[in-house]
Amino acid sequence: NSEIRETIVIPRYIRVNTLKTSVKKVIEHFQAKGFTQEEPIDDLKNISPKTIRKDKHLPDLLILPPNTDLHEDALYLSGDIILQDKASCIPAFVCSPPFNSHVIDACAAPGNKTSHLSAIMQNTGKIWAFDFDKHRLNLLKKLMQKAGYVEAIHESFLDVDPMDQKYSNVGYILLDPSCSGSGIINRLDHLIDASDETQEQSDLSHKFKEQRLENLSEFQEKMILHAFKFRSVQKIIYSTCSIYAEENEHVIKRALDQTDLFVLGNKDDMMPSWPRRGISSEINDDEGIAEKFIRANPNEDYTNGFFVACFVRKTAQPINTE
Ligand code: SAM
Repeated sequence: NSEIRETIVIPRYIRVNTLKTSVKKVIEHFQAKGFTQEEPIDDLKNISPKTIRKDKHLPDLLILPPNTDLHEDALYLSGDIILQDKASCIPAFVCSPPFNSHVIDACAAPGNKTSHLSAIMQNTGKIWAFDFDKHRLNLLKKLMQKAGYVEAIHESFLDVDPMDQKYSNVGYILLDPSCSGSGIINRLDHLIDASDETQEQSDLSHKFKEQRLENLSEFQEKMILHAFKFRSVQKIIYSTCSIYAEENEHVIKRALDQTDLFVLGNKDDMMPSWPRRGISSEINDDEGIAEKFIRANPNEDYTNGFFVACFVRKTAQPINTE
């Protein structure tokens, strides 16, 4: 057990808030604090102390040694950098709405991905950020004060009317619904520490897990089907921080089976150089769709566990922007 625990150490990732600063300036800031810039690498297991490097896949992400404490850092306090795990930066990057797009962040709070979207769009266009948890939405509002403007709305995405004129030009939806969180490293303990359970406890927790996953996956599927109803939407990014196929491959497959309008985006648009893809054996995958998913595995990718899929409208229509 201690071996597994030791191997799951992820670097300190910092996302540069490109609304306020640049990657170059942030590197200079750390160099002035005694950090040395090193080349991007794949194997992030042993990062030398006081080093900084660019990430290999995401242009606005920098990598520091694990546990580097930045809570007192001036750039963190000013919102110029955001402490965000790499996996959590992938959805907005894959979405990459062009300037002036209209975007819905359907499950937005506390707003890490919303702020990433607004940075990618350089604060042009519009983002509607929904969340039905008031407390978490307040965190989003606070973050967005530092990181750029969006309209935060306290409402269930399922109650948002897709026919409302306001959303008629929404071309992109980011859907990061509640999930089991089973990929988050400090929650992986349940996988590691199960050894002292009795058989009865183990059967019970298995049943509980199955029921919970069933409820979550039904909810996740509903959210995707609702997103399909927005008439101008061209791209829907679905993500979870779950490692369970029930919330990932299975949900996507069921949603695909219920639409004639959307297909999965090509692997070429889904970080093609990223090695870890969907689990083919989890679905009837005659068409090879698992290749089009992105998965992250804490043990091998030095991030939290994660899953990303992208639906695109079959006949792409030009997106109206302001
Ligand atoms: N995207 C966020 C970020 O990157 O900071 C994290 C989102 S978290 C995984 C899922 C969020 O979905 C929670 O804040 C939860 O309150 C919200 N949520 C759950 N059901 C919802 C619904 N029906 N409509 C809108 N938000 C919902």
